[in-house]
Amino acid sequence: MKITSAEFVMSNSSVAKCPNEPLPEYAFIGRSNVGKSSLINMLMERKSLAKTSGRPGKTQLINHFKVNNNWFLVDLPGYGYARVSKKDKKVFQKYITEYFEERRQLVCGFVLVDIRHEPQPVDLEFMEWLGTHQVPFAIIFTKADKLKPTVIEKQAATYLQKLLDGAWEEAPFHFITSSTNRMGKDELLGYIDGINKG
Ligand code: GDP
Repeated sequence: MKITSAEFVMSNSSVAKCPNEPLPEYAFIGRSNVGKSSLINMLMERKSLAKTSGRPGKTQLINHFKVNNNWFLVDLPGYGYARVSKKDKKVFQKYITEYFEERRQLVCGFVLVDIRHEPQPVDLEFMEWLGTHQVPFAIIFTKADKLKPTVIEKQAATYLQKLLDGAWEEAPFHFITSSTNRMGKDELLGYIDGINKG
């Protein structure tokens, strides 16, 4: 897919206020610093469409970008979780879960994880949450350039195997990316294009 236009439309903290348009949406989410803004900028071929971590601003909101006038890229905030005092139970920000539960335009969520890291509890928990709520999602491994080419695939396979060793019957679809060398860009945009074209 060639990116002919990518424009910021709105930021808000409520799914009810998201754009009232029927275009398909693809939402990007992950822990802070995972490389989400860099990936979005790389995909959109823009230097600073999404704000990178170092810069204050829109990172705590649901950000809609209209791409090629026919789909929305949704930049969701890095998830942390609020601690609920009693059982120390983890909950994801309300508007994130609401977005995934209620947004009918959502086609696929992309959960970003740093390819160098072991599966982190918060990521596992979030993917589990998506699974139990039947939200379609894929994993995007980021920062693959930080690994030697020979170990990239192996590292991803090890991560996915850990999901299979846990509760997962089937490994989620995945992409291996690097914003530094644009690895995975064509695959990811091709995937979105394929779905959009039905
Ligand atoms: P965000 O908080 O998830 O939006 O993460 P950022 O996009 O702001 O990136 C966090 C840090 O990781 C920054 O210092 C980026 O330069 C760095 N980074 C992001 N993507 C990559 C990548 O693909 N390769 C490398 N080597 N560094 C990256």
